[in-house]
Amino acid sequence: MSRGKSVEDDALLRRHGVRVTAQRLAVLRAASDRPHSKADDIYDFVRTEIGAISRQAVYDALAALTDKGLLRRIRPAGSPARYENRVGDDHHHLICRTCSRMVDVDCAVGDTPCLTAADDSGYEIDEAEVVFWGRCPECFAAASVKSNQPSEGNSERGDGPT
Ligand SMILES: [Zn+2]
Ligand SMILES: [Zn+2]
Repeated sequence: MSRGKSVEDDALLRRHGVRVTAQRLAVLRAASDRPHSKADDIYDFVRTEIGAISRQAVYDALAALTDKGLLRRIRPAGSPARYENRVGDDHHHLICRTCSRMVDVDCAVGDTPCLTAADDSGYEIDEAEVVFWGRCPECFAAASVKSNQPSEGNSERGDGPT
């Protein structure tokens, strides 16, 4: 938004050895303003910001920025990758199964304790990825309103396989 911010981003890219382009700046800005966006959402957002840009250029910029550690890519099982600029603290994520909204959740015990595996099997660990799946408050509330109304699927919770 402000001129100062873009100068900052500019320096950030340089510091990380990323060649500065308007497209990369716009992609970085989009991922910073809307953390946990999917590549396609970032593409839509950047296009409204700077006009003509190809989908491939956005993907390339995301790849370059992720590569250089400016962005973090989160790859939840069975859903498209998300991007955020909160890097380096190895925080975790909560994802709503219903609306797929994703929010940050800090490590339970301070700084990146999850990198200290109970048994590392001799691996040199540099990343731990923990994703909590569930329902966000809105979707949970919406679902319980629905289940208060009489409906077919409102039976007792069975414990057999479905
Ligand atoms: Zn939800
Ligand atoms: Zn996050």
